[in-house]
Amino acid sequence: MKLRWLKYFFILAKIRDNAQRTRDAPGRRIIINLKDTIEKVLRKATSSRPYLFNVVTLETGKEVAKAGYKLKVLRRNDGYDVELVTTMPPVTTTALKMGPLYARAGMVSSVAFARTQYGNVTDDILFQKLYDVKKRWLMYIEAGDSSTREVWSAPCMICGLVLPMRNLTVDHQRPQSGGEIEAVLKTFRAFGLTMEGPRGGKGKIVLQHITAGAQLEPVLTRPGRFGLGGFNINDRYTLNDDGAVLYSFVVDAGEKALLQSQCMHGLMNLKPACQTCNSARGKELKFA
Ligand SMILES: [Zn+2]
Repeated sequence: MKLRWLKYFFILAKIRDNAQRTRDAPGRRIIINLKDTIEKVLRKATSSRPYLFNVVTLETGKEVAKAGYKLKVLRRNDGYDVELVTTMPPVTTTALKMGPLYARAGMVSSVAFARTQYGNVTDDILFQKLYDVKKRWLMYIEAGDSSTREVWSAPCMICGLVLPMRNLTVDHQRPQSGGEIEAVLKTFRAFGLTMEGPRGGKGKIVLQHITAGAQLEPVLTRPGRFGLGGFNINDRYTLNDDGAVLYSFVVDAGEKALLQSQCMHGLMNLKPACQTCNSARGKELKFA
């Protein structure tokens, strides 16, 4: 009987929690905030007991547990310390600089998960700049005569044809089925969290914008764009140390699925394409 009441209590608590979230963000989907994710894990440490959790990373498009290592959170009077410790002798401890990682987590959250619904392009500055969305005079035939009308439009990123926003579709760059981890890596790469950084296009523009304050330039459409050879695909799809630490926090916070879904449908993985290009494109995984 007691257990049953306990169950109701938890259901009620959950309903309240959801209601709270809905109130906080009316009409918007809940967007993952990696700073909150980090704090959620840090708070598991008490002043009398450190909190240890697993190191999990992504290597060549696959999730890998780093056996022999743990992340350790120590609660101090003025905050938290995080250390990377070995679990086998000889035990070594490396203090991690959380400041820069925390800052990067904030950047990923503020940019990567931005809304990308085409219906609201006029109020999404980032999306407008990256995809050259603006009002253009396009040709129409009306009552047998050609005329022009000023409409919100953007180029298809694959063939370059300019179309009104309503005629463009959303192309998922990493495929929706099975491409979740690759979408996470593609997103993290734009924020300097993979072994090899972005070499061109959107990732490089976003990275230069957030790290050096460079102006956001429109991403070039494919026609006439130079190939960027010479990169190492394995390193592009492998997290660096900062990336692995951040990803470990996400896994321990139980937010892996949320991260994957938001990277899949987030700015870094979406681009405008016309219907023909979108349906003709092969959606193969980089690492099957
Ligand atoms: Zn096209």
